[in-house]
Amino acid sequence: MNGKFELATLGVRAGQTRTSFHEHSEPLFLTSSFVFDDARQAAARFTGGEEGFVYSRFSNPTVSMFQDRLAALEGAEACVATASGMSAILALSMALLKAGDHVVCSNAVFGATVQLYSGILARFGVETSFVPATDLAAWQRAVRPSTRLFFLETPSNPLTEVSDIAAIAAIARRAGAPLVVDNCFCTPALQRPLELGADLVVHSATKYLDGQGRVLGGAILGSRKLVMDGVYGFLRTAGPSLSPFNAWVILKGLETLELRMLAQSANALELASWLEAHPGVLRVHYPGLPSHPQHELAMRQQRAGGAVLSFEVKGGRTAAWRLIDATRLISITANLGDVKTTITHPASTTHGRISAEARAAAGIGEGLVRVAVGLETQEDLRADLGRGLG
Ligand SMILES: *Cc1c(COP(=O)(O)O)cnc(C)c1O
Repeated sequence: MNGKFELATLGVRAGQTRTSFHEHSEPLFLTSSFVFDDARQAAARFTGGEEGFVYSRFSNPTVSMFQDRLAALEGAEACVATASGMSAILALSMALLKAGDHVVCSNAVFGATVQLYSGILARFGVETSFVPATDLAAWQRAVRPSTRLFFLETPSNPLTEVSDIAAIAAIARRAGAPLVVDNCFCTPALQRPLELGADLVVHSATKYLDGQGRVLGGAILGSRKLVMDGVYGFLRTAGPSLSPFNAWVILKGLETLELRMLAQSANALELASWLEAHPGVLRVHYPGLPSHPQHELAMRQQRAGGAVLSFEVKGGRTAAWRLIDATRLISITANLGDVKTTITHPASTTHGRISAEARAAAGIGEGLVRVAVGLETQEDLRADLGRGLG
């Protein structure tokens, strides 16, 4: 594709290459290796002297199409795909950090990300300071001479706290370390962190990029230097590669990404407004609501509020579980990013393994319920939630 195209067009068209069969839809290359014309070509491909596919641990045409399309959507020079969102975060950390290095990380990131930094990477001599997602002074205070990476996720899960990407990018730039943004909840359809000053974007493609809850995948995006000279080398050697089949599913998911994100955000905003007015609800957390503490910031750095909201019901865990158990339509599952609406009780599931004190400090109460809004009709969603709301 030549020239400059809008997001919707890029989602449908970017990155596609056609074979000699001139197929219209993107082909799926289920092959672990590629053959060479002769021994000379094999040698040239292995040394990198000649471009071309070799082995699907580090190069596959379907995976390349997915990488190129997502790079176009994020406005990134380079993208590498991974087997899952967590392997993307692991890969960039292994590529950019070494023993003795220090990481500044938002305390409102995905649970497994906290485990990765505070548990696994700590064993290899990487120390992490967790700071409040929205407190810029705390981000600044946490910086040390050994700080080599900044990491955040916005909006956060499940309280939808919004971090100021541009302001934290400025702190990171002064510290001389890259800022990584987990853009899982917004996707490039709603938020483009690289334009706001972030150095790397990481995705769990399992969520909204797939969009229909089918496969796991991940990706890392940024400058050619950080992604290709840094992260790709680790991936190529260590091998948490994206399967071509999964790449194909997610690639086709990208075609409807903008449509889905705008429609699901609109559905979430309507549902959030209805919940906020409901007498059984104490408080709603949704960046699209004017009552959200970072509403203005969210509307500045995001195109819409996203599809995830949470709310506190009167009556603690008993009331929250009653509400969840009264649903007939909404799926009781901790996953999100699907066109099917999902519901979960964070205090006893996604955040069940942290201590009650830590949960309370993080603002995750017993009455909190998270809903990841899909594409069902608004009236049906309200009826399903209304049934169990006292
Ligand atoms: C799910 C998720 C991840 C991890 O992704 P997997 O594909 O499950 O490995 C990372 N970050 C966020 C924000 C997520 O929601």
